[in-house]
Amino acid sequence: MKQDNNNIDSIVNSYRCIGCMACISMCPFGDLNIKDGDYGFPIPIKHMNCNDCGICLLECPMAEENEIENE
Ligand code: SF4
Ligand code: SF4
Repeated sequence: MKQDNNNIDSIVNSYRCIGCMACISMCPFGDLNIKDGDYGFPIPIKHMNCNDCGICLLECPMAEENEIENE
């Protein structure tokens, strides 16, 4: 089953995103954009065609190991 925890939504939706933008350039499909966040700094947002590959989490300082390895 497709899970929602292998992309930046797992970080953003749990309010752990610090807006560092390290993930933006990581997505090999260009599926990440930037939008205004709730706390005064921009946050990443994924496109509909994100395939949950998890690559964007590899450089995320707030991602935990299990979020990267889950598929
Ligand atoms: S999970 Fe993969 S496709 Fe989705 S935003 Fe991250 S790197 Fe891009
Ligand atoms: S790499 Fe992680 S903390 Fe940095 S902007 Fe992306 S989701 Fe947020």
